[in-house]
Amino acid sequence: MSINYNDTKLAGVHARSLSDKEGFWGEQAQHIDWFEQPKQVLDFSNPPFARWYVGGSTNLCHNAVDRHLKDRANQKALVYISTETNEEKVYSYAELHQEVQRMAAIMQSLGVKRGDRVLVYMPMIAEAIFAILACARIGAIHSVVFGGFAAPSLAARIDDATPVLMISSDAGMRNGKEVPYKHLVDEACSLAAKPPKHVLLVNRGLAKMDLVAGRDVDYAQARAQNMNAQVPCEKMQATDPSYILYTSGTTGKPKGVQRDTGGYAVALAASMKHIYDCKPGEVFFCTSDIGWVVGHSYIIYGPLINGSTTIVYEGLPLRPDPAIWWSIVERYQVSTMFSSPTAARVLKKQDPAYMTQHNTKCLRRLFLAGEPLDEPTAKWISEALGGARIIDNYWQTETGWPILSAQHGLEVTETKFGSPSFPVYGYDIRLVHESTFEEVGANEKGMLCAMPPLPPGCLQTVWGDDERFVKTYFSAVPGQHLYSTFDYATRDDDGYYFILGRTDDVINVAGHRLGTREIEEAIQAHKNVAEVAVVGVADTLKGQMPMAFAVLKDASVAATPEGAKAEEKAIMATVDHEIGAIARPSRVHFVTLLPKTRSGKLLRRAMQALAEGRDPGDMTTLEDPSALEQIKKALGA
Ligand code: AMP
Repeated sequence: MSINYNDTKLAGVHARSLSDKEGFWGEQAQHIDWFEQPKQVLDFSNPPFARWYVGGSTNLCHNAVDRHLKDRANQKALVYISTETNEEKVYSYAELHQEVQRMAAIMQSLGVKRGDRVLVYMPMIAEAIFAILACARIGAIHSVVFGGFAAPSLAARIDDATPVLMISSDAGMRNGKEVPYKHLVDEACSLAAKPPKHVLLVNRGLAKMDLVAGRDVDYAQARAQNMNAQVPCEKMQATDPSYILYTSGTTGKPKGVQRDTGGYAVALAASMKHIYDCKPGEVFFCTSDIGWVVGHSYIIYGPLINGSTTIVYEGLPLRPDPAIWWSIVERYQVSTMFSSPTAARVLKKQDPAYMTQHNTKCLRRLFLAGEPLDEPTAKWISEALGGARIIDNYWQTETGWPILSAQHGLEVTETKFGSPSFPVYGYDIRLVHESTFEEVGANEKGMLCAMPPLPPGCLQTVWGDDERFVKTYFSAVPGQHLYSTFDYATRDDDGYYFILGRTDDVINVAGHRLGTREIEEAIQAHKNVAEVAVVGVADTLKGQMPMAFAVLKDASVAATPEGAKAEEKAIMATVDHEIGAIARPSRVHFVTLLPKTRSGKLLRRAMQALAEGRDPGDMTTLEDPSALEQIKKALGA
C-alpha cells in the first residue's frame, strides 16, 4: 500500500516545526532537565549561526545520569559486552553515576577545567563512556578520536583541539588480536606541536605499557584514590560547546565539528521519542563505535538521556559466531537496534540459520545508517529477522541526528526499500539543481540542502574556524545561505527521498567517511610517489573502497610484477601508518600519467567510472588521451 507524505500526520508536524520554531522547539525542550530555563528558544540574528536555548543552563551528564537516580538508580544503565576479552559487566544508573564522578575527580586532579579540551582515544570499553560523561560533567570539551586512526592523524587532531589531557589505553582488541595503542599515543605526542600535559591510561593488561614519568597516569591507581568522589555537574550554558568530532571533507585537513550543549540534549531526547520510539527502561543496542557520531549520539547520550539501557559492544558481528548479536538481543531483550548496512551485508554472507537461532521477537526496529542501504540487503534482513522493521536513517556527523527518517514515534508510515523516507521535523529540506540552483521537481536529481537555521543539535561551527564553517557548508548556492549536505538526492511522487551519493570528493567505506585528498596526501608521504589520484570504487560488501593510481618518481622499481607488488604493499603500509588501515586502498595501480583536464584538474570521476566498468562520459576536456588508456590498461579493461 502506497501512502503520500502530504497526507501523513508527519507532514503536519514537520510544517509546524518550521512555521512555529519557537513553539515546537520550546515544547521539545521540556523533555530534558534545565538548571535555568532558556530565555529565548532561538537567536538567529547572525545567520547562518543559530544559537538555541539562549540563557538556559543545563548539563549533558546530569541529563544522561543524575536525573535518573530518582526513579532508576538500580536499573541497568550500561551493559558492557566484549566478545574479544570475554567480559560482560552491567552498571546500574547508580553505579554509572559513581564511576563518572571518580573519572571526573581524576580529571580535575590532573588540572582539567571547564572549557578545556580532553582527547579520548580509546577502545570500546566502559571507561571510555565514563570519560566522555565525566567531561560533560565538569564542562570539559571532549574530542574523541577513533581508535583505528594512526599517530599522524591523532597528532593533527591534538594540534587542532589542543587538549590538556588525553585518555587512552594499552590496547584495543580486534578479531582476537591485540591492537596496541600506547606506542601510537607516544608517537602522536612527539609529533604534535602542543602535546597534552597528561595522559591517563587504562591498563587492560593486553599490551606492554611503559609510563612516561610526569606525564602518564595509571587509571586504576588514580581511581583507587577517588573511590568516594563527589563531583557536581557544572551548570553549562545551552550554547557552550560540549564536544568536537573531526570529520573528512574535500580538503585535506579534517574539520572539527563543534556541538553545543542544550540543543544537542533536546534534539537527542526528542529523537529517542519521535524517531527511535524507544521507551525509558527499554534496551537500545547500537553497534557503532564511540569514535563516530553514531556512537556519540546513540551509544552514549541518546539512550542515557532517555533513561534506557545502552549496550556497549566490543567485537565483530561474527565472533564467536554470526548469531552473537541476536543472542545479545534475546538475552537483554533489546527493543531497538542501530547498525550499519555493511554489517547487514556481512551477516547476509553467513549461514542464514544463525539469524533464527535466537528469539528476537522483542526487537521492534532495526535502524541502519551511515551509508546507502541497498534494497536486497534491506529485504533480506527484514525477512531473516521475521518481521522486525528495518528503518533507513540518513544523517551526518555535522547534524548529530537524523535528517531523513521514518518517525514511528509520531506515526507509523510504510517504508520503501532504498529510501530513508521523509524529512525529519526541524529540517527545512530543499533539493536544488546543481547548475540552475532552482528547486527540482519529483524524481529529479538535486543537491540535498537545508535552509538555515539548522535545528538544535546540529554543528554550531567548525572548531576555531567560523569562516571555514560558513565557506564550507553555506556556499553551494551563490547568494544564498543554504546548508549543503554534499549529497545528491531525489524525491519520488509520494514524497520519499532517495540518496544518490556525494557531490564532493568524499567516499564512504563501510560507513566510514574518508576524503580522497586525505588518502592522496598520505600516499604522497611515500618517498617514491610523484603524483597520485584516489577514487572510491563500488564494493559489494563495504559500499565503496579506495583505489589509487600512482605515478612513481622511479618507475623502474615497479617494472616487474614482483617489484610492482612490493611497491604497492609499501604504499598501503604508508597509508596504514599515516591514517590507519581503514583508509588502505584496495589496489594501487601504477601509471606514468594521470588523466587531467587542460586546466590541470584531475578527472577523478572518469577514473572511478572506468574502475566500475562504466563509460567515463564526455572526455573532450582531457589533456592527453593516452592517460585514460593507461588507466584502462592498469585495470585490465
Ligand atoms: P558521516 O558524517 O560519517 O556520518 O557520513 C555522512 C555521509 O554518509 C552522508 O553525507 C552520506 O553521504 C552518507 N550517508 C549517511 N547515511 C546514509 C543513508 N542512510 N543513505 C545513504 N547515504 C548515507
